[in-house]
Amino acid sequence: MRKPFVAGNWKMNKGVKDALTLVSAMLPGLEEIASVDRVICPPFTSLFPVSTLLANTEIGLGAQNMYWEPSGAYTGEVSPAMIKELCQYVIIGHSERRQYFGETDISVNAKVKAALDIGLTPIMCIGETLQQNQANQTAGVVIRQVREGLKGIAGEKADQIVIAYEPIWAIGTGLPATGPGANEVAGEMIRQTIGSMFGNDVAESLRILYGGSVKPENAAEFFQQPDIDGALVGGASLKVDDFIQIVRVAAQ
Ligand code: PEP
Repeated sequence: MRKPFVAGNWKMNKGVKDALTLVSAMLPGLEEIASVDRVICPPFTSLFPVSTLLANTEIGLGAQNMYWEPSGAYTGEVSPAMIKELCQYVIIGHSERRQYFGETDISVNAKVKAALDIGLTPIMCIGETLQQNQANQTAGVVIRQVREGLKGIAGEKADQIVIAYEPIWAIGTGLPATGPGANEVAGEMIRQTIGSMFGNDVAESLRILYGGSVKPENAAEFFQQPDIDGALVGGASLKVDDFIQIVRVAAQ
């Protein structure tokens, strides 16, 4: 049995004051739903203050990115150890980072390895563009992203990874995938690839999320699917009632 997992990606939204207000408002509702792993991923500047609010709770904290080197002359970057001081999770390879900041499967792979080495759970994001989807290239793209992103990772660490399947055409568009469509990618493409790389036990225990315009109204369609274990939520994670409701649906 894989424990349901719901993470909120706040993207580049909320300063410290607003972040604390938002987390304080969500906390009582989120804390009641212990059967789901709940994770909040605010911007870097709010990680420390939010970590103080989440101390002594079971709500996880995640960064939205990190660099793979341990320290040094990398102006503007944040190291795995710095993230690990505050967080348990880190989002890696979000499509916005691939699209706007030049992230590739190679940098994603270096970051996933660095996260695992330091004991962070990487939430590795993959997904195809609209054009690739329309050209029937989804399987090729997603399988390549899994293979390259997880290349050289030791089998015993692989089940700690969380994979978020986020079709780019569904992110922030209000046009989600269908439950069965996302499940086909999660099961027949992602989980099968994990099985061929790391064996059946890892494939059965690794959690695969769907992301892309998840809302309280459509969450059940995804969470009912056998190969979808939760969601990476963008826009709706900034709304107290919506985020709590999505977590509630995941618990059902
Ligand atoms: C995301 O940012 O990962 C995401 C899925 O965004 P949204 O839920 O807003 O589509």
